[in-house]
Amino acid sequence: MAGAVAEIERMIEEGGPTRLVATVNPEFVMRARSDPRFWSVLEAASLCLPDGAGVVWAMRRQGCPQRERVTGSDLVPVLAAVCARRGWRPFLLGARPGVAAEAARRLEASVPGLRVAGVHAGSPRPEDDDETLLRIMAAHPDLLLVAYGAPHQELWIARHRDRLGVPVAIGVGGCFDFLAGRVRRAPRWVQRLGLEWLWRLLLQPWRWRRMAVLPAYAVAVWRSGRGADE
Ligand code: UDP
Repeated sequence: MAGAVAEIERMIEEGGPTRLVATVNPEFVMRARSDPRFWSVLEAASLCLPDGAGVVWAMRRQGCPQRERVTGSDLVPVLAAVCARRGWRPFLLGARPGVAAEAARRLEASVPGLRVAGVHAGSPRPEDDDETLLRIMAAHPDLLLVAYGAPHQELWIARHRDRLGVPVAIGVGGCFDFLAGRVRRAPRWVQRLGLEWLWRLLLQPWRWRRMAVLPAYAVAVWRSGRGADE
């Protein structure tokens, strides 16, 4: 987490064209294997963080000494504190109407000195792009958080990176739902057991369809490993 935050802080400070930060879980990986567009967007990302326990497991099996997950939902409050300290302003894009605004309100209340540049629900549909881009450009944010779920949020950022005028954009999935108190995050002990995915499945059973790729993911990781965690 400390490394990720330092790297993102450096990227914001440096400025320049929009850099994508992706918070990768096993569903991302399986999607990328069958979707070349998503694959190349992730390949081109400036930073891919291990959001899912399954990704940490895969990294370790392939010889990378990664110990902890770095989730978008944990990252955002830490980045908000960095923004407050540096005088930078994040923009919250996505989630259902009203959710980003509530998330922003709670973030500002919990992080002294934080000023949010703007919020907008919008949608990843191309017909909504013009309005969304206008709002972001008018707000001049230093950091863009996009909550449209994968792969929409990453594809959206990649599609507009030349026009956003913001140094860093991060796909944050369900983070605003947690921040706004709409969905309860798994307790820490469930997270520590690597079972947050199961918690989310129990709370939101409609997720089973997208999680149906997990057994195939586990087999692929098992086969690919050099046995680093055995
Ligand atoms: N979302 C949205 N527009 C869409 C699809 C999704 O705003 O067309 C939002 C949704 O409301 C949620 C977030 O995107 O806040 C995706 O959350 P999800 O829990 O699916 O993401 P995950 O954390 O699993 O990647």
